[in-house]
Amino acid sequence: MNELAYKLHVDTVIETIERARLKVSGHHIVKIVAVSKYSDTDAIKALYHIGQRAFGENKVQDLKAKSTALEALPLEWHFIGNLQKNKINQLLQIDPTLFQGLDSLELAHALQQRLSDQESSLEALLQINSAAEASKHGVSCDEAVDVYHRISQECPNITLRGVMSIGAHSNDRRTVQRSFEATHRIYETLRADICSMGMSNDYELAIECGSNMVRLGSVLFPK
Ligand SMILES: *Cc1c(COP(=O)(O)O)cnc(C)c1O
Repeated sequence: MNELAYKLHVDTVIETIERARLKVSGHHIVKIVAVSKYSDTDAIKALYHIGQRAFGENKVQDLKAKSTALEALPLEWHFIGNLQKNKINQLLQIDPTLFQGLDSLELAHALQQRLSDQESSLEALLQINSAAEASKHGVSCDEAVDVYHRISQECPNITLRGVMSIGAHSNDRRTVQRSFEATHRIYETLRADICSMGMSNDYELAIECGSNMVRLGSVLFPK
């Protein structure tokens, strides 16, 4: 895609987001995190040059490589993947803007230990497995509020900003919608800042269900 065609394509994504957010309210602001996991630094730069600032990666080593290669640019880096305990130090070294995949109290405790040792802090979202799928990480809807409060109390070096979820893996719109609504109810109960849900295939629906952060990969980095 040439530069102009690419910009027009990104504009159509932004227009779709705009229509969806206005269905919720004129005051409903949605942040876009561009998921660059299948893209190289040239593609990230191209999107940066048309205004995108927040990028997400799901592997610690890729996050490190790309954020280092692009450190001259004023970008935000989000870690959106599953964090293995043996990668904690590496992630904290990168100091991401937001860790979106905090998926258990146990991982929170391990992070807290390391953070307090090095006197640093980390902003994070609690990942919720709202469709209760065995293939997905995250706490169940039933446990989410309790785990969120326990992390807030027991992990002073972690600042929880809200929740993250991946929509149900289904072709049935109602099923996906129910999974987003379940996450959104927890977000409202918590009165949190961020409700991160919606990917390339379902971001419009996610926003209509109250998402205020979408994580878009393939739709922003077309091949
Ligand atoms: C890959 C990924 C995305 C983006 O996926 P697309 O379908 O390409 O938009 C969003 N969130 C998470 C957690 C991911 O791993």
